Amino acid sequence: MSNEPNYKAELVGVFGHPVAENPTIVMQEAAFRALNLNWRYLTIEVYPQDLADAFKGLRAFNMRGINLTIPHKVEVLKYLDAVAEDAQLMGAVNTVRRDGNRLIGENTDGKGFLRSLRHDAGVEPAGKRVVVLGAGGAARAITVELALAGAAHITVVNRSVERGRELVALLANNTPTTAEFVPWDGPFALPAATDVLVNATSIGLFPNVTEQPDLDYNTILASMTVCDVIPNPPRTPFLAQAEARGATTLDGLGMLVYQGAIGFKMWTGHDAPVDVMRRALAQAFGL
Ligand code: NDP
Repeated sequence: MSNEPNYKAELVGVFGHPVAENPTIVMQEAAFRALNLNWRYLTIEVYPQDLADAFKGLRAFNMRGINLTIPHKVEVLKYLDAVAEDAQLMGAVNTVRRDGNRLIGENTDGKGFLRSLRHDAGVEPAGKRVVVLGAGGAARAITVELALAGAAHITVVNRSVERGRELVALLANNTPTTAEFVPWDGPFALPAATDVLVNATSIGLFPNVTEQPDLDYNTILASMTVCDVIPNPPRTPFLAQAEARGATTLDGLGMLVYQGAIGFKMWTGHDAPVDVMRRALAQAFGL
């Protein structure tokens, strides 16, 4: 090893608008410190009309990668050299990694959910019957990864009929799973054969912490695994209802940590210190 000084930091970060409240920096920088890596995670405000210039800057600064958040996850596709198959299916990219001079689009949201489902809840998605509430970005990412991992059947329940139908068509036409859409126009009653229920809507997100999805909660059975994507606060009224009925529960903090951990590995090549990242985020959320 050379003793030459090296003052250069490797740069990653997030482009978004609004972006100031995005907490990802907290867990990524904690992970860099834990592994003694001279890397920085920058939280960068990029207005919608400036994304092309932002990508020129990213290339010029030799940044090692970037996260995308609202409103750039779809628009970013224009500025990439290649896109991973799952992200292509979702039509959205939340993580860009470098392969030499090429920028590759990935989506780690659904992968983070699956890792949390397997590691934290001990549930293997293959062969499972899943009900997903919502058809937005989080629901798309989760259902595509569940389908690619061999889920047997996916029911999408959504308020907007068009969005729900579109997601079900995407799953049915591009993955081996069977999928159906149910319009959400009253308390939804779960089929008894449901293995996994996921709230992939924004209902319950801070500051609306007392809100819960419109469900017939008595149809939740102890045999089910009930998951929420809401990371803050992680213990939502929805999960409390499921817990009260004896179901296994999984909060959205795990998904957030794992999607970041997967991005960390893509960027640095190192396994992420997941516990360090989880503690840093929990502290940032005041837990
Ligand atoms: P989108 O805006 O793309 O989608 C929102 C979804 O929630 C839509 O299906 C929408 O239905 C539904 N929805 C919102 N409010 C209501 C309501 N009052 N009643 C019924 N349905 C409702 O958002 P995202 O998918 O990007 O994000 C959803 C949530 O997931 C956010 O809270 C976000 O914080 C969380 N998330 C968590 C991650 C994690 O790592 N834990 C990662 C990514 C997201 P409709 O189509 O009818 O409008």
